[in-house]
Formats: sequence, structure tokens, C-alpha cells
Amino acid sequence: MAELVPSPKLLEPEGVYLCPVCRHGQIAPMVLMDTYACNFCRHILSIDLTHQTARLEDTAMVFRWQWTGTTWRSLNTPPVTLTYTAIVLGVLLITLPPGLVWLGQQMFPPLSGDRWHWFPLFWVGLTFFAHAVLVLRIFAGLAPVQPLFGRDRHR
Ligand SMILES: [Zn+2]
Repeated sequence: MAELVPSPKLLEPEGVYLCPVCRHGQIAPMVLMDTYACNFCRHILSIDLTHQTARLEDTAMVFRWQWTGTTWRSLNTPPVTLTYTAIVLGVLLITLPPGLVWLGQQMFPPLSGDRWHWFPLFWVGLTFFAHAVLVLRIFAGLAPVQPLFGRDRHR
């Protein structure tokens, strides 16, 4: 049975690793070259073994990744900081949709003897919960999303 979480290890000159670009194929050293190529997306990368980084060589833009021992971490996006604007937008995203549902329930209340009279308030709570989970997940720093397949394909 395949190991689900590969043990951390350093990049090695002759190693085969998951492609940081497509995260589907594998990069391996090219013959007579100092570069690596992906067998799926065909991108060419150079590997810096001392800094454990990879750099995309076949584009004009600079794309770099840091090897963490098991996977690649992008060095291209700056760390996101939590600004007041983001907090205000998050609070609005959490409160506004359930507020609209609650307003609809107040303007058109269910009939008093109705079996489903609890449903509008349940829907308000569910809307609040769903939006809160969404916003908190974004604010939590977005734990890196692992692809479902191809994680344990590198050696
Ligand atoms: Zn690739």
C-alpha cells in the first residue's frame, strides 16, 4: 500500500519530483542539460540545490517555488495580510446574506399554524453559518490545497 504522506527529503540532482507548475506530471533531469522537464506539461525548470528552489525557464515571467521536503511552495505570491478593508468585507459577507433572508422572513412571515414555520429562521442560521465558514477559511490563511491525485507520485 502506498504511503499517503511522503517523508521529507532534500532535492537531489538525479531525483524525480512532482511538477510545481501543473502538479500532475513529474519533473526529471533532461539528458545533457542542467535543467529538468515535466513529462506532462512539458515546462522546463532549473533547480537550485543549495537553496532547494525551482525556477521556470521557458517563460519571460519569473516563477519560482521552494521545495518543502515533500511538496512545492510558491514564491511568486506575496504573503497576504489582513487589512481593515478585508475585515469589513468579511463582516459584510457574513452578515448581509443572512440579514436579507431574515428581512424576507420578517416581511412575509410564515403562517402561524404552518408545520414549516421554523424553516425561515433555520435558513437564516444556515446562511450565516455557511458564509462564516467561507470567510473564516479565507482568513485562516488558506491552508494549501493538495491535489487529490499525484501527491505521492514522486520518489
Ligand atoms: Zn508539469
